[in-house]
Amino acid sequence: MNTEDAANAESTRMIHPATDDTLVLRTAAPVLQRGTTVLLDDYECFGRKAPTYGRGGLATQAALRQSLCDLEGGEVAELYPSGLAALSGAILAVCRTGDEILVCDTIYGPTRRFAETTMADYGVATRYFPADIAPGDLAAMIGPATRLIVLEAPGSLTLDMLDIPAVAAIARERGVLTLVDNTYAAGVLFKPLAHGVDISVQALTKYVCGHSDVFMGSAVASGEVGALLKRGARSVGWAVSSDDAYLALRGLRTLHARLARHGAAALEVATWLRGQPAVREVLCPALPGTPGHDLFARDYSAGNGLVTVILDGPESAEQAFLDALRLFGLGFSWGGFESLAIPCNGQIRQRHFAADTSNPVIRLHVGLEDTADLIRELDGALSAFAAAVGEDTQTGTGQPAGNIGAVAPSGRDAQGDSVINPAVAQTPPTMGV
Ligand SMILES: *Cc1c(COP(=O)(O)O)cnc(C)c1O
Repeated sequence: MNTEDAANAESTRMIHPATDDTLVLRTAAPVLQRGTTVLLDDYECFGRKAPTYGRGGLATQAALRQSLCDLEGGEVAELYPSGLAALSGAILAVCRTGDEILVCDTIYGPTRRFAETTMADYGVATRYFPADIAPGDLAAMIGPATRLIVLEAPGSLTLDMLDIPAVAAIARERGVLTLVDNTYAAGVLFKPLAHGVDISVQALTKYVCGHSDVFMGSAVASGEVGALLKRGARSVGWAVSSDDAYLALRGLRTLHARLARHGAAALEVATWLRGQPAVREVLCPALPGTPGHDLFARDYSAGNGLVTVILDGPESAEQAFLDALRLFGLGFSWGGFESLAIPCNGQIRQRHFAADTSNPVIRLHVGLEDTADLIRELDGALSAFAAAVGEDTQTGTGQPAGNIGAVAPSGRDAQGDSVINPAVAQTPPTMGV
C-alpha cells in the first residue's frame, strides 16, 4: 500500500483496498467475474467502443458467448435469462408491426403463447403449419407480410421431425428469416446455421447447464441478423448473472460426454419399450423404424435423452403408470442429470392440427442413472398400467386396449388432411414445458 492510500481512513481503505493483480491466476475452471460498474483507466476511455457497463456481460458472459458462437457456428451469441426469453427476445428483435410469422404446430407450448399474446398485441400475426407439411405447401403459405418461420425439431413432446434444410432453403429464396429452437440438440447434435437457418435458439436451462438448477437461453446468428439480435438484446436490456453464466460454462465442459450417455441410454430404453405388450408406439426419431428416423439420421449426429411412449389403453389408466415411478420424477423440463416423466395429452390438445390423444402419451427424459434400474422401474409401471387397463375394461369405464384408432403422430387426420382442432379456440394457452 502506498503511503497516500495508507493515510486514508479504515472505512475508505475497505472500499479502495490495495490490490495485487499478480494474484489473479489462470485456472482450469472458467473465470467468474461479477460486477455492474466497469472502472475506466482514464478520461479517454469514456469515448471508447469497448464495454463500459456490466449489463451486457463481463469476462464470464463473454467466455460463454464465445463458446456458443463456436458451438453453433455463428458470429453473435446473445444471452437471455431463460430459454423462453431467448425465443421471445429473438422473435421481437427481427419482427415489426404488420409482419406475420409462420410457426410449426409442434413448437414448445410457451412459444405459442408468446406469439398469440404479446406478438398479437404488437400487431404481428401468427399462422401454424403441421410438422410434416410438404415443402411446396409451406412455400404457398408465404405471403408479402411473412417475416419469420419458427421451427423446432424434433418437436416438443411428440418429437416430430421436420425437414429443416428444405424449409430454410425455401425461406431464403423468398427473403424470409428462419429460427430454430435447437434445445433438443443442445447445439451439438444438429447445427441449424450450417443448414441455412438464420437464428439458432437454445434453452441453455436444459443440457448445457445440465443440472436442473439454472435458467438461461441463447440466440446465435451471423451478419445482419446477428446485428439485429444484438440491437434487440441491448435495447431491451436482457442480462444474465455471472454466476449463472459460470454454471453454463461449467456445463459446457461435460456437455458432449453427458449427451452421449443420455442418447445411448434413451436408445436402450426406447428399444426395450418397443417390445412391450402394453406399449402402442415409441416416438424416438434416433431409433431406426420410428417416425422421422430417416430425416433424423440425415441431419442429426445422435439423439438426446428424450423418448415419448404411447401406451396401449385408455387415458384413464395413465395415472397407474405415472404413480408407479420413483426414479423417474414427475416433473416438467429435461436436460438435467435425472430421469423425468410427464403426461402430454393436455398439451397436445392445444395444437391446431389434430393428433389422436385417446391413448396415454408419456414423455420420458432418460437421465444418467443406471439404465437397468430405469428399465426395471418402467417394467413395473407398465404392469401397473396393464392391471389398471384390465380393471377399466371389466368395469366398462374405459375403452378396451387395442381398439383405438391409430395414432397420427404426423398431426394429420385419418384421411391425411390437415384439420384445425376446434378445441383450440376455447382452451387457454398451454403452460407446460
Ligand atoms: C424448456 C424449453 C424452453 C424454455 O426454456 P426455459 O429456460 O425453461 O424458459 C424452450 N424450448 C424448448 C424446446 C424447451 O424444452
